[in-house]
Amino acid sequence: MTNFDSTQLLRQDLNDFPPYTMGHTPLADLGKYIKLDLNEHSYGPSPKALAALAAMPHYHRYVEQEELRKAIARYVGVDAAHIVTSNGADEIIDLVQRIFLDRGDAIIDCPPSFEMFSFFARLNGARIVSVPRREDFSVDVDAVEKAISDCRFQISDSPNLQSTICNLKLVSLASPSNPDGSMLSHADVERLLALPAILVLDEAYAEFAGESYATRVPTQPNLIVLRTFSKWAGLAGLRVGYCIAPKPIATKIWQCKPPENVNAAGNVAARASLDDLEYLMANVRRIVAERERLSVEFAKLGFLQPLPSRANFILCRVVGRTGKEVRDALAVRGILIRAFGAPRLREYIRIAIGTPEENEAVLRALKEIDG
Ligand code: PMP
Repeated sequence: MTNFDSTQLLRQDLNDFPPYTMGHTPLADLGKYIKLDLNEHSYGPSPKALAALAAMPHYHRYVEQEELRKAIARYVGVDAAHIVTSNGADEIIDLVQRIFLDRGDAIIDCPPSFEMFSFFARLNGARIVSVPRREDFSVDVDAVEKAISDCRFQISDSPNLQSTICNLKLVSLASPSNPDGSMLSHADVERLLALPAILVLDEAYAEFAGESYATRVPTQPNLIVLRTFSKWAGLAGLRVGYCIAPKPIATKIWQCKPPENVNAAGNVAARASLDDLEYLMANVRRIVAERERLSVEFAKLGFLQPLPSRANFILCRVVGRTGKEVRDALAVRGILIRAFGAPRLREYIRIAIGTPEENEAVLRALKEIDG
């Protein structure tokens, strides 16, 4: 079998699969940078989480997730039967799609949006109905309603299929949204919930916005809320996420998920974080205060126009240069921020909010670039 070409067996529809473009810093270099490119949490995990990780004697065992599920349910304020835990919010995006989407079914994506919605839709053989956000990044709910009502869409990756009819099942939206930080208005959420589709509402940044639709789930059969410990609890590297879903849907995801998807360390750290809310929420408040201060300071610079944000980052329009030029100028000064490849975001940068010291360093560097 030496001539056997195993690539012939690959799924043909993955030939042009676009990889997720986000770059990672090598582990050995992590301490060398002020790292504000991936919306992580500069303050890190809570002391109770670190102590619980160090004291855990059972890393050689598989660990059940029921206690974590109950602790999350208490935190969110719903019955534990609504909660499904996952390996980061990324995995729950995938699991939700897998239990709903047959090959050829469609999701609505509203770009610019969190790239993992369309990443997993492609991987799951689904179609992506692209309903671009308006110039100010707000969701064009009229266009979403129209796409669902007449089921004739522009399929984003094949414009020649413009009038294909397909089974549109999921509307995926983040609120606050990544990369722009805006929230869906309450009126828009109600309009989306009135549609004959599931609203997959990604609330990865809910703690920074101070509001969530999680407690609406028990009375709303077409709402699934996604959350994570990566941002507010500083556990991005431990990968703990979850969803709040109507009970029959939660049961189905629970049945179909890998049984050990949340690792023992993530499990322990997430539970200890929920026991250290006062500490973690104080840091969330610091980040929100710094976000507001930085928005004002960024606007004073000649070349940045910050957009209002409810998350732990600020998207800024860059005047007179590209986002990549600003990113590179900061990188040589030891500061990592995000620039984008998508044409619509070429003139933008996204900067996560760090500690006050990190933020001061960012401001100093930006002033140098400006000057
Ligand atoms: N949703 C959004 C909107 C995000 O920005 C991110 C992280 N970048 C995630 C989900 C994924 O979070 P996690 O680390 O829990 O996979």
